[in-house]
Amino acid sequence: MTQEPSQAERRPSTVGASAGAPTAKLVGDLTTTALRAARAFATRHEEPAAWREVSRMHGVFLSLLPPAAAPPTPSDLIAALRHPMRAWVPLRWDLVPSELGSFSVLGHDDLLTGEAIEYGSDYSEALFENHEAGIDWVPRWAQQTFEKVERSVYLVLSSAGQNEYVATRQMLIEVPAGTVEQVSDELNERGALHTEAYEPLPPDRQFVSGQNAWYVPCPVCRWPMHVRGSLLACRYPQHVGQFTITQEHDAGGAPRVRGPLPALAVHAAETVCLHEAVWRYVTVPGITEVSLMGWLAEQAGIDGDAITKWPHKDRWDISVRAGSSVFEVDLKDTRSPSQIVARPPRARHVVLPDYRSWQVAQLRRSLPAGRYEVRTVRAFKALVGKALKEAQ
Ligand SMILES: [Zn+2]
Repeated sequence: MTQEPSQAERRPSTVGASAGAPTAKLVGDLTTTALRAARAFATRHEEPAAWREVSRMHGVFLSLLPPAAAPPTPSDLIAALRHPMRAWVPLRWDLVPSELGSFSVLGHDDLLTGEAIEYGSDYSEALFENHEAGIDWVPRWAQQTFEKVERSVYLVLSSAGQNEYVATRQMLIEVPAGTVEQVSDELNERGALHTEAYEPLPPDRQFVSGQNAWYVPCPVCRWPMHVRGSLLACRYPQHVGQFTITQEHDAGGAPRVRGPLPALAVHAAETVCLHEAVWRYVTVPGITEVSLMGWLAEQAGIDGDAITKWPHKDRWDISVRAGSSVFEVDLKDTRSPSQIVARPPRARHVVLPDYRSWQVAQLRRSLPAGRYEVRTVRAFKALVGKALKEAQ
């Protein structure tokens, strides 16, 4: 049966929109709304306002889509979020980038999927660079703590001198957890500034074995892994792998942990760790930055003073002099290349983690021609190696 589209269906930003931009905006709004609904649903046991948030987000879905296209009830919305939006929202999907709408937002474990978390993170990553940017996908009750912690760290960093800035930022990358005493010692030794970035170790990142509480740092980022029953996993989906807490103990009494990489349980007493916002926006991207800085410093022919970390307090990530060349580098670790294109880097060399190599070709096409050189970390190291060899 073919009918004339209703008034609602003819609105420019809804189904069948003929221009690409309004459709992309609509998909962005739908995804943000889906993330908020899923995030609220995931906290429904602890958070009394959770279902109200789910209902509110369902209302937003109804307002964004024509009546027949939206799930009829909040519960239907939750069920739908377990499937990619491309499967259930009738839209001109051919008008938007293929990465949009292609993933389930809610997993079968009732938590946000790794892809959904990554998507949300990409959109809020701008915060540390541009404090006006929104974090709409975080529900309001969570947003307040996100904003408070982040604002405090941001204020401290923005008032710091360059050396204090580097010391503080590097500490937030290299020390994501520790005892109160360890963190305070590190702060003094490094000349880092005090921030409100650390909080007591949350209950979902520790477990009891024997007489003691324990946590297990992620082997990649060293932030305490999330605990579900006897299973452990880092919240960052690229730090792949699931770990299992066994019934065995080592000589020191710590429970043994089995997984794809070696991991050790640590006493959870008196422990603090970085707030999630700081971990996600400073620590996670910082691992690639600090490891590249470390590699550069090890190269014969590059003196310590040839490397500037986060020049001008992070206008870009690294300046390095190798032979007769100076490389200004911005490392970009985001799920969607379109986010990098939307906020073009300030440095000439755009460098991606090796696990994002598929983005290189797309970025070369999409970034303004002639202004940028795009490579993986591996290819960038080869370029630096070549510059050093030529200088010999
Ligand atoms: Zn991790």
